[in-house]
Amino acid sequence: MFNLKKYRKKSPWILHYNAGSCNGCDIEILASLAPKYDLERFGVVNTGNPKQSDIFLVTGPVTLRSRERLVELYMQMPEPKVVVAVGSCSCTGGVFRDMYNVEDGVDRYIPVDVYIPGCAVSPELIIDGLVQGLEILEQKTKEMEKPLKLFKESTCEEGIVNRRDTALKVGKIDEKN
Ligand code: SF4
Repeated sequence: MFNLKKYRKKSPWILHYNAGSCNGCDIEILASLAPKYDLERFGVVNTGNPKQSDIFLVTGPVTLRSRERLVELYMQMPEPKVVVAVGSCSCTGGVFRDMYNVEDGVDRYIPVDVYIPGCAVSPELIIDGLVQGLEILEQKTKEMEKPLKLFKESTCEEGIVNRRDTALKVGKIDEKN
């Protein structure tokens, strides 16, 4: 059977989204993809399709207009996925924080795995952040591969266990078992 997971780390596809940045960080992302820094040597492909992406690169603070798009794009990406906040604005809102049209950093709406602070972020830091992101992606892939087990849980009232009222719960099997 074709094992897609084996190749994910060798060729992660990224989705780049500007949530409201001044374009400074976006230009640095493009510079890191260009021949001088050549992020593509790690197999990175900048795709415009969230359904084919593994790593979500977000620049800029979240604005009132971009927040819905941000969450929609995140939801459309398949699991496992990694979110990288690129630049101080994306991490915390940065210089735009507390403006009337700015919400906050990206982690107010979606979970962030790697933070790359800086204004603007250098291509070297972006490459470092992506390499960190790849390691997290690998961990998440392994976590997803663990088999699932159904647990029975009984309710207990005043010390008496009610075995009729049981609920099935899904959990990961411990690695030791
Ligand atoms: S961190 Fe600096 S360069 Fe990047 S979007 Fe914010 S203001 Fe612009």
